[in-house]
Amino acid sequence: MEKIRKAQKIIRIFRKHEFEAYIVGGAVRDHVLNIPLTDIDITTNAKPHEVSKIFKTEPTGVKYGTVTAFFEDEQFEITTYRQDGSYDDNRHPSEIVFSDNVLDDLSRRDFRMNGLLMDDNLNVIDHVEGLEDIKQKVIQTIGDPAHSFKEDSLRMLRAAYFESKLGFKIHMDTLVAMRNQAGLIENLANERVLQEMIKIIKGEHAKKAFITLMDTGIDKYLPGLEKGLIQAVKIKKKLTVDIFFMMAFSLNKIVPKAWKFSNKHRHRYQTISHIVNRVKKIDELTLYEYGIENCLLANHIQVLLGYDEDKEKAIRHMYDKMTIKSELDLKLSATEMLERTQKKAGSWVGNIRKESVEKVLKNEIENEKEVLYSYVLEKIGE
Ligand code: ATP
Ligand code: MG
Repeated sequence: MEKIRKAQKIIRIFRKHEFEAYIVGGAVRDHVLNIPLTDIDITTNAKPHEVSKIFKTEPTGVKYGTVTAFFEDEQFEITTYRQDGSYDDNRHPSEIVFSDNVLDDLSRRDFRMNGLLMDDNLNVIDHVEGLEDIKQKVIQTIGDPAHSFKEDSLRMLRAAYFESKLGFKIHMDTLVAMRNQAGLIENLANERVLQEMIKIIKGEHAKKAFITLMDTGIDKYLPGLEKGLIQAVKIKKKLTVDIFFMMAFSLNKIVPKAWKFSNKHRHRYQTISHIVNRVKKIDELTLYEYGIENCLLANHIQVLLGYDEDKEKAIRHMYDKMTIKSELDLKLSATEMLERTQKKAGSWVGNIRKESVEKVLKNEIENEKEVLYSYVLEKIGE
């Protein structure tokens, strides 16, 4: 059964227990737009402990009145009607006040198109002119945009995200408030900014959103991405998240510390930026040091930046022809080196092996045991 049918059942169960409940937010918007639903949120006047008595739940955000309910093999976020008290730090309401009135709950939501309700018969209930916005394809805040963004500045990035996801336009008043309050982005935890940026980059209409980020000056608060955004707008093809960041950080030369990437991602972005900026030409030594995958990515970025023509074929060919791809491929092992020279182990072994690799890669010596051994003797001066 479709997930939305199960949500309808949930609403009916709530009603049997004499509670109100509706599907709310993105699921209603996407249902109206006839696009696939990502997740289904349900809003109700039942308090979290009452929800937990009716459904199998897990307390995902009880502080904010949200529990996750498991129903017929699906998960639903069920949130109690709430009106937010005053906000701290431009992000978190300082106190959560539950409400019995669904209108309070709608007025704390971000955009009019996200303030729609749907009942158990899939009738859409519109208290906030959300349907009109969907029809006109505009994104505008519920209530005064300046006030809304001051309460929660993440909403500015969410506006750009919905532009990217849906291709809608941001309403002029909302856009002006974004321009005026762009600086509030600085107060947000980087994890949240990063999450939202990833969603923006993934959207089908990402370029529109990139233009908004630049136009509003929000880009100034996205460390190291400014040049990348300008470039991304010029490129016809849709960029993946990784390629976007690799390109942006190649233009920026470094990956700013502020971004909370995993070590793996940070390292990769930094490596690509290094190859793009520091390596004049990808040759055997580059391939040996950074591996084929990184070299191909760097080549791709160089092409995107217009630094170079596409060398993919040549790089692959060069790699296939390389006689050694790792130090283990040297025909003289480190153990043999020690045995035959009768010298004590030390940093000299690694150094000579590294030099041998370079010589072999440059075709200056052959990868043959005796040739390599002669080279060792020459280096240690015996
Ligand atoms: P998506 O397609 O990305 O899931 P969505 O609109 O469902 O879009 P969610 O992040 O899943 O977005 O949030 C669900 C709903 O919760 C929103 O539609 C909106 O009504 C409300 N909401 C989410 N984040 C905020 C916020 N920062 N401020 C106000 N309301 C919010
Ligand atoms: Mg959602």
